[in-house]
Amino acid sequence: MPAQLLDGVALSKKIRTEITARAAIVTAKGRRPGLAVIVVGDNPASAVYVRNKVKACEEVGFHSVLERYEAEMNEEALLARIATLNADPAIHGILVQLPLPAHIASERVLEAIAPQKDVDGFHVANAGALMVGAPEFKPCTPYGCMKLLESIEYPLRGARAVIVGASNIVGKPMAMLLLQAGATVTICNSKTRDLAHHTKDADVLVVATGKPKMITGDMVKSGSVVIDVGINRLPDGKLCGDVDFDTAKYIASWITPVPGGVGPMTITMLLMNTLEAAEKKIKY
Ligand code: NDP
Repeated sequence: MPAQLLDGVALSKKIRTEITARAAIVTAKGRRPGLAVIVVGDNPASAVYVRNKVKACEEVGFHSVLERYEAEMNEEALLARIATLNADPAIHGILVQLPLPAHIASERVLEAIAPQKDVDGFHVANAGALMVGAPEFKPCTPYGCMKLLESIEYPLRGARAVIVGASNIVGKPMAMLLLQAGATVTICNSKTRDLAHHTKDADVLVVATGKPKMITGDMVKSGSVVIDVGINRLPDGKLCGDVDFDTAKYIASWITPVPGGVGPMTITMLLMNTLEAAEKKIKY
């Protein structure tokens, strides 16, 4: 029997209903949640992601500001813009869409965002806090994956979790969250020997490599949960994940589709982080 779908669209809808209600409460108290999104250059994939994020903000009643700059913008000007947004009381979250043009140092830019407004959770202060279990914000994609696991009440304590991909924005924070939930975690990267040996041992397999369909059904443990973070565009224009869905779905018990799995959850958790940033302003 094919695996059940871990449906990120349906779960997002449910969480966004809650976000809309909570946003109305903070708005009534004079703190309408506000997100600023900055894009530098004209990467077409970034343009789509950014449009989706801004549209999602509008749908839940947030204030959103989209700032687009020419690829030639210099780093100082970008840092100055971030400093202004850091001081703007109407903005609770600041997101700089990656990748940035090569002449701008992404780390310097991400670290210029005030940690209290770092709703992407990429600032080193938040990454460090995540390590010790108390981040201001959890990075949106791993946070969304955890919500998907929570939605099926997956018992993570003692489970074997394997993550393929070790980036700062997905693989590493994902490992921390799973570890904190009590799983026994292995992180694989491009140098891992005998990758299938690890993946076949995973009760929970999270894949984030950017390599289309690289995890095939024969690399998946029977009855496992497979979370595919990958978003790849094939030459025919269709989207696919880093997992070969058509073979893995016959082995796993739960699997995320691409599109419609982790992607919508990432945006939903961005909304949640922005909402919580605004709520904290009321509480303090
Ligand atoms: P990065 O390129 O930053 O990192 C890729 C990671 O995968 C690296 O750690 C790399 O290893 C590892 N890797 C690459 N090839 C292999 C291989 N053959 N075997 C094992 N490990 C391998 O990617 P990101 O984490 O930024 O993104 C990964 C994917 O997730 C992409 O498809 C991206 O589009 C998607 N994504 C989706 C999001 C969503 O909302 N759904 C959000 C963010 C990303 P090494 O460290 O050795 O180089």
